[in-house]
Amino acid sequence: MSLKLKVPRLAIDFLSEFNCCARDDRSIVARAPLTSLPLYNKNVSASAKQLASADFPTRWGQFRIYGFRLAPALNGKPEEAVALVMGDVHTSAPLVRIHSQCLTGDVFGSLRCDCRQQLEMALTMIAGEGAGILIYEQQEGRGIGLMPKLQAYELQDSGLDTVEANEKLGFKADHREFALPAQMLKALDVKRVRLLSNNPDKVAALQRAGIEVTERVPCEVPASAHTADYLRIKREKMGHLFKEQSS
Ligand SMILES: [Zn+2]
Repeated sequence: MSLKLKVPRLAIDFLSEFNCCARDDRSIVARAPLTSLPLYNKNVSASAKQLASADFPTRWGQFRIYGFRLAPALNGKPEEAVALVMGDVHTSAPLVRIHSQCLTGDVFGSLRCDCRQQLEMALTMIAGEGAGILIYEQQEGRGIGLMPKLQAYELQDSGLDTVEANEKLGFKADHREFALPAQMLKALDVKRVRLLSNNPDKVAALQRAGIEVTERVPCEVPASAHTADYLRIKREKMGHLFKEQSS
């Protein structure tokens, strides 16, 4: 089965909010200066297509896995993501985690970041409720890609923090847009969520895309000797919210 979403209302909301004009059906061009505005949802006029759906047993319990692809923006690459869905996600707002791929953390158990622990914490919390959705986006290194992420690690080894390293390589601190997760949730007929995240930008991006975030549920991994600086920079420079304000 494939689903194709049409989101004209979203596009209209986006255009009016950011004073933009549509150049064609796949790209949106800013009319006003965008220097202080986030770039999230610039693909909001594109459509998410469901490519596959299958049963998916895991260590955390029984899920169904869905594969989605977002049509590319002009000159862009198609963006793909999967959703793991457990239980009834329609009767009330389900727990939802949007996780960005981290090969080094998720697969190799790197201690340079807290990604794998956040992923496992999210799956554990979803399993604990017997319902919820984990969206896994192919957005390695907050969207910069695997090789640039490794180059950024090299720069960090010479003293730069994670934001400075990305900027030295010519990237923004965070390249993610979250347009695809919002459209995937709509394709799954989920309009209200309890978002598992420490990142207020994710909450704002989903809401701008028409998904109601009824609650932000913290997904906090205690800092270790390896991640203390990384988490401090996330808090100080990227506005992430942590209950435990490690110093
Ligand atoms: Zn990571």
